[in-house]
Amino acid sequence: MRSILETAPDAIIVIDVKGYMLSFSASAERMFGYSEAEVVGENVSMLMPSPDRERHDGYLERYMRTGERRIIGIGRVLTARHRDGTTFPIELSVGEARIGDDRVFTGFIRDLTERQQAELRIHDLQSVLAHVQRVSEMGTLATSLAHELNQPLTAIANYVETARDLLQERPDEETLEIVREALSECASQSVRAGQIVRRLRDFISRGETEQRIESLQRLVTEASALALVGAGDQDLEVDVQLDPTADKVLVDRIQIQQVVLNLIRNAIEAMEESAVKRLMIYSEREAGGFIRLTVADSGPGLSEEVAERLFEPFRSTKATGMGLGLSISATIVSAHGGRIWADSSKLGGTAFHFTIVDADSEEAQA
Ligand code: ADP
Repeated sequence: MRSILETAPDAIIVIDVKGYMLSFSASAERMFGYSEAEVVGENVSMLMPSPDRERHDGYLERYMRTGERRIIGIGRVLTARHRDGTTFPIELSVGEARIGDDRVFTGFIRDLTERQQAELRIHDLQSVLAHVQRVSEMGTLATSLAHELNQPLTAIANYVETARDLLQERPDEETLEIVREALSECASQSVRAGQIVRRLRDFISRGETEQRIESLQRLVTEASALALVGAGDQDLEVDVQLDPTADKVLVDRIQIQQVVLNLIRNAIEAMEESAVKRLMIYSEREAGGFIRLTVADSGPGLSEEVAERLFEPFRSTKATGMGLGLSISATIVSAHGGRIWADSSKLGGTAFHFTIVDADSEEAQA
C-alpha cells in the first residue's frame, strides 16, 4: 500500500468516516502543497473551496445514513483548493473499503490543469472540437465562408481600382512598378480565396455524424475539463450531478461535447462580473426515451431581447463574440433528434437544457 501511494501519478488520499485524513500520498503533497505530516488527522474539507468545504461533513454524514451514492464509485469533475488558496479543476473518484469493523474512503485525484497526459488528451479533443465547430451547420458555415471570402475579394477590388486609376494618364516607370505590385497582390489574394473554398469542401466531406452508444458521464467529464482548463477562474464552483442510472446515450460524442463545451463556456463568460460564480451540470431521464442535460449558472440571466433570438446565428452581446455557439449547438441537438431551450436557473442565472436519446430506453431500441 505504501509503495503504491509513493509512486502513483494520481494523488491518493485516504479518509475515515468522519472525513479525517489517514494518509496522503507523495503526489497529493505535490498537488496540494502540504506535507503528509501536516494534514494527517485534519479534515479533508481543508482541500476544498467553499461551499464543499463547509458541506463535506454533511455529505459524508448523509452517505453513512442513507447509503445513497453521489460520488463513491462514480467519479466527478470538481474544484480543489491548494495550500496557497488557489483552486484548480480535478477529476475525483472515490472508493470505499472495509478494514475489520472500520470503513475508509480512498480518493483518487487527477489534476486536470497540470497533468500532462490529460493536457495532451484535451489538446487532441480540442482540435477535433474546433473542426466540428465549423462543420456542424451548413447554413452557418456558408455565411461565415461568405464573410471570409469577402476579405480577399474586397482586397482584389481595391487593387484593381487603384491600378486602373494609375493607368489613366501616361504612367511613368515608377507608377508602372506600383501597378505591377498591385496586380501581383491581386494574384495572391485570388489564390487565397481559392484555398478558402477548397477548405470548405474538405470540411463538408468530413462532416457526417456518427452516432454510437456513449457514456454521458465520460462525455461531460471531458467537455467540462476542457471548458475549465481554458477558464482559469479561481472562484468558480462547479457541481456535476449526473444520474448514474441514466448514463448511456446514443450520440456523436464529439459533437455533443461541443454543445456541452459551448454551454459551459457561455455560462462562465456570463458570470465574469458575478460575485457568486456557480455552475451546475445535471442530468435527468425524460419521458419519450430521452435524457435531459442541464447547464445552469448564477450569472445575470437573459434579457428578453437576447432570449427571443437566442439560437439565431451572429447574435452576440460580446465584444469578440461570433454569436455562433448556440446556433451550432441547436443544429447539433436537432440532428440528434433532441431539443434545446433555455429558462431561468435556480442558481439565479440562466439554465440551458437539451435532450438526447437514452440508449437504454425501449424507444431507442425499437
Ligand atoms: P457568443 O458566445 O459568441 O456570443 P452564442 O451563440 O454562444 O455566441 O451566444 C449568444 C448570446 O447569448 C451571447 O452573446 C449572450 O448574450 C447570450 N448567452 C448565452 N449563454 C448565456 C448565459 N449562460 N447567460 C447569459 N447570456 C447568455
